Amino acid sequence: MTVEKSKELYERACSVMPGGVNSPVRSGKAVGSIPVFVSSASGAYIWDEDGNRYVDYVCSWGPLILGHAHPAVVSAIKDVAERGTSYGIPTKLEVDMAEQVVKMVPSVEMVRFVNSGTEATMSALRLARAVTGRKKIVKFGGCYHGHSDCLLVSSGSGVVTLGIPGSPGVPEEIVTHTVSLPYNNLSAVEKVFDEMGKEIAAVIVEPVAGNMGVVPPEKGFLEGLRNLCDRWSALLIFDEVITGFRLSPGGAQRYYNVMPDITCLGKIIGGGLPVGAYGGRSEIMREVAPSGKVYQAGTLSGNPLAMAAGLATLKILETPGFYEDLEKKSAYLEKGLREAVSDAGVEMVLQRVGSMGCGFFRSGAVKNFEDAIKSDTNAYALFWRGMLENGIYLAPSQFEAFFVSSAHSYEDLDRTIDAARKVLKNMR
Ligand code: PLP
Repeated sequence: MTVEKSKELYERACSVMPGGVNSPVRSGKAVGSIPVFVSSASGAYIWDEDGNRYVDYVCSWGPLILGHAHPAVVSAIKDVAERGTSYGIPTKLEVDMAEQVVKMVPSVEMVRFVNSGTEATMSALRLARAVTGRKKIVKFGGCYHGHSDCLLVSSGSGVVTLGIPGSPGVPEEIVTHTVSLPYNNLSAVEKVFDEMGKEIAAVIVEPVAGNMGVVPPEKGFLEGLRNLCDRWSALLIFDEVITGFRLSPGGAQRYYNVMPDITCLGKIIGGGLPVGAYGGRSEIMREVAPSGKVYQAGTLSGNPLAMAAGLATLKILETPGFYEDLEKKSAYLEKGLREAVSDAGVEMVLQRVGSMGCGFFRSGAVKNFEDAIKSDTNAYALFWRGMLENGIYLAPSQFEAFFVSSAHSYEDLDRTIDAARKVLKNMR
């Protein structure tokens, strides 16, 4: 396999973009590789500039639950683009899309569209602080909620991948209001509420953590957060930027049947275009300007291309059996990988919820960030490079998820399992 054109592009990129990329974890640094530069994609596949084809499990970091360039999504985008790409004036599409989200996500009665997951979580926190009149935010180590200042504390995703402890440029005074606690540790949350419950505006959590690898909530964790927030009149925010529309049509809240006060959405909701959203009960959402006083705005928010791509995607997700099929495929992949791991005699723990999963190179279940960072990242790097050589594109980080899309065929999954078997055997 040659990647000469990617190498040339990477050299050019590094002289004009920091690290040669527009988002850190893409760089390949953590797996000892240069990034491959993609020229096109279709269904479950991406092609790089050198003409190599890969089965893609990054799926643009989660949005592409239907795979790349799904015909219905492409056609919706084309149709709208011919009538203008952005107006900054309300459209019917925004209303249709908002109604669709309200219909699908059980706790959401009203929604505001933004342009990214970062904007969604940042705006949700502002709203929670305004509604409660309190300052403190509780988050969990290894959860990533985008790159706004007050949430870059013990963060997952690229922050942990590149070993950055928070970020220079974030003033200490800002993060003094952020309390970071271990994921899945309800007694730690209880203790903090006992100490400062009346100052806590909100608890923000990834209902399934997907940014320290994949870590499911233990039984009772989400319910416990719900109860504590109720007891102390704090708001519970589910960051469903990954899990929204991934785990079920109603996201993780429907999957686990725990309802947050505010839900943050992103990724799938944009069908591959830049969108985020936050929503919740009407009485909370009505506090957002212009019906209320909590300011939040956006030049391109609710733009027609993104609304059209999102709406086309969400409509397909309502097809009966969609999530059952995705679960079957994901379970098939997990089973095959488990057998490959066990036959190779390598230490790897597979964790999966629905169509998101990951393999930690360590023994014993991963319940929180502390466990996750004890993984052997060198072993992951070796595995990643081997899989790439065999035509399988995984996230270039131990601390990210793989995503199965409806475009992955059983043949693709078999090819992936065979590749893993081969690569893992060589790693012993
Ligand atoms: N929240 C979660 C759970 C995420 O995984 C991400 C991004 O990966 C974000 C928020 C931030 O979203 P964006 O990258 O669109 O700003």
